[in-house]
Amino acid sequence: MELDVDGVAERVSTGTLPGWDDVEALVQKAHERNAGVTSGTVADYIPALAAADPALFGVCVAEVDGATHGAGDVDHAFSIQSISKAFVYALVCDELGHELALERVGVNNTGLAFNSVMAIELNDGHPMNPMVNAGALATTALVPGQTSEARWAFIQDGLSRFAGRRLELDAAVYESETETNQRNQAIARLLQSYGRITADPAEVVDVYTRQCSLLVTARDLAVMGATLADGGVNPVTGERVVSAHVCRDTLSVMAASGLYERSGEWLFEIGMPGKSGVAGGLVAIAPGKAGIGTFSPPLDAAGNSVRGQRATAFLSRSLGLNLFSSDVHHPAEGQDR
Ligand code: GLU
Repeated sequence: MELDVDGVAERVSTGTLPGWDDVEALVQKAHERNAGVTSGTVADYIPALAAADPALFGVCVAEVDGATHGAGDVDHAFSIQSISKAFVYALVCDELGHELALERVGVNNTGLAFNSVMAIELNDGHPMNPMVNAGALATTALVPGQTSEARWAFIQDGLSRFAGRRLELDAAVYESETETNQRNQAIARLLQSYGRITADPAEVVDVYTRQCSLLVTARDLAVMGATLADGGVNPVTGERVVSAHVCRDTLSVMAASGLYERSGEWLFEIGMPGKSGVAGGLVAIAPGKAGIGTFSPPLDAAGNSVRGQRATAFLSRSLGLNLFSSDVHHPAEGQDR
């Protein structure tokens, strides 16, 4: 797409959150209103995930000034799974730049399942976007480093900087997924056959499986999201993790395809960029304001946490986070409309 934006200074306008007390009360309410919801099913296609307690439920908001508000099981650790895709994409964009990431990985929807092989075939081997497995594998293949250990270290360090603490691997989930990820191996090989990845496909899948097995909490997800909301600076540690442009690019992809095949519905109802994972995590971002992290293992048919979506929807409405909402302009006294 040819756009006339080169060298144009970017203005940003995002608004503010209500005061600390209001945010605190609304986070408690988001938890309270949804704690009794029991619909959804815990994922079992990765055997180690099937054992998760469906009653666990945490809601956390991290503001861009570093304040966090938590309710419920906000410090319970679970594997990040697909949510890693968004943050690894941000790290890779930061290395590669806007144009190259656009060309190599893409930003358009597939309309098909996250692990679709057909989507690759229908698009001449193009991985389409970084939130589906093909695009995520292509993104992981672009991580800098001579060896897979170096690439893994880049990812573990980078995601830890987003979270503001050292994130560790869940060895049981990693082993369980390694034994059952034949489909991801097939996708990586298919991308290799199209010349879309040049690194060893088995190594790429291994690093990707490790990134999915990193342990996070709802609080971590909120801080990771708040880093994307804060122009790339972690609001708790003060460390710059990625550039502000990379945040903008990452959030746009999350808005388009972060909630699997329900991404359009999510944007329509909730109006925020987000990303969910099969272990029950969900992160949503209000640019310039906050990150929301939730955890609740039961998922809907598309693979998104049921309570997580409900709690985020409540917070989007009550905190005024829907990017598409506006109010009627009321002119100041003596001023014409
Ligand atoms: N590690 C999982 C996979 O690649 C992630 C799936 C997900 O969270 O959607 O199959």
